[in-house]
Amino acid sequence: MNIHEYQAKEILGSFGIAVPRGRVALTSDQVERAAKEMGGRCIVKAQIYAGGRGKAGGVKLVHHPEQAQELAKDLFGRKLVTPQTGPQGLKVRRILVEEAVEIAREFYLSITLDRETSRYCLIASAEGGVEIEEVAQKSPEKIHILTIDPFTGLRPYQARKIALALGLKGSICEDCVDLILNLYRCCTERDCFLVEINPLVITKAGWLMAMDAKVNFDDNSMFRHREYPDMQDYSQLDPLEITAGKFDLSYIKLQGNIGCMVNGAGLAMATLDVLKESGGEPANFLDVGGGATREKVTEAFKIILQDADVKGVFVNIFGGIMRCDIIAQGIIEAASEVHCALPIVVRMDGSKVEEGKKLLMQSGLNVQIGNNLGDGATRIVQMLQAGRPN
Ligand code: ADP
Ligand code: MG
Repeated sequence: MNIHEYQAKEILGSFGIAVPRGRVALTSDQVERAAKEMGGRCIVKAQIYAGGRGKAGGVKLVHHPEQAQELAKDLFGRKLVTPQTGPQGLKVRRILVEEAVEIAREFYLSITLDRETSRYCLIASAEGGVEIEEVAQKSPEKIHILTIDPFTGLRPYQARKIALALGLKGSICEDCVDLILNLYRCCTERDCFLVEINPLVITKAGWLMAMDAKVNFDDNSMFRHREYPDMQDYSQLDPLEITAGKFDLSYIKLQGNIGCMVNGAGLAMATLDVLKESGGEPANFLDVGGGATREKVTEAFKIILQDADVKGVFVNIFGGIMRCDIIAQGIIEAASEVHCALPIVVRMDGSKVEEGKKLLMQSGLNVQIGNNLGDGATRIVQMLQAGRPN
């Protein structure tokens, strides 16, 4: 789960990490007042669930409150497109007004879960700022990575090794050791999937400060943190993702035109691969999980059909726990409810498969049955091609 920069900074602050003084505003008048409070000269920062805002015009230095207000008028309601938002962009509804800090040096520091080792790993670089992805690609030797043993936790000597690798000396090096240890504490106590400070800066006055902050909570820890859902800004999410969440379905939006309904994440990955191999482009995938009910399948199908990019649907379900006739009923119910005339291919196998196929064939829907995964993928691609005007 994502949160905004200003919320992430509040959390870092509560772990003793210095952050700039700031206020979050919802209107351009509030931005003006906040700018006055910061002394006129300040930084205006659009709050969206994505980085790369600086280069997209979402982070700007202003010199007086009226200028802050003008900028806010332009930013509010605008969709910012950055390399992390996708082409559709994200709408600005909150703005952080911050004191303008005089920066001497910028570093990169983060802790995230490494799926390879199943451990937290700390990533640091003296080449911080807005181009960290490029540094990682062009000069990987400038990125320092440390895998953290969950049993011993992060030890001070390890944090010091990182601070030294960043080229820090003396008291600022010790400050950095403390900051790294605090960041690790934040990560484990708050069940974060990612905490990222880019840039971590040394100010001209000689202090370490988090100038940007990104915190991502591990969704599996929600039962331990009842306050997390209230921190969510739903305006930053795809409405279909929100609906899917309500029914406990995983929905991921992609760029193509074939909606995919699958049970199980592994099968979803295989389905996307085979679909691509057959020349198809997935518009999304919706994982209905192992023991989904007919109601869940119905909701899932409706969600897929609400995606305007979807021009055809590919259902790939292995009915181990789930019965195929129930899946078929769910599909038929949802498709008739929304008057779906789109081509549908269903590939299913397992319990009551013949009953399921029979129901579909008698349904009057524009549906074909795939004999296996490859055959199903080819069929949906062909059905789409056949329906395309020349
Ligand atoms: P993003 O990563 O989304 O581009 P950042 O918060 O990192 O946004 O801001 C981009 C750049 O703006 C930073 O690298 C930093 O140089 C500068 N910056 C951000 N906040 C401040 C601030 N309060 N004072 C001075 N400079 C800032
Ligand atoms: Mg940044």
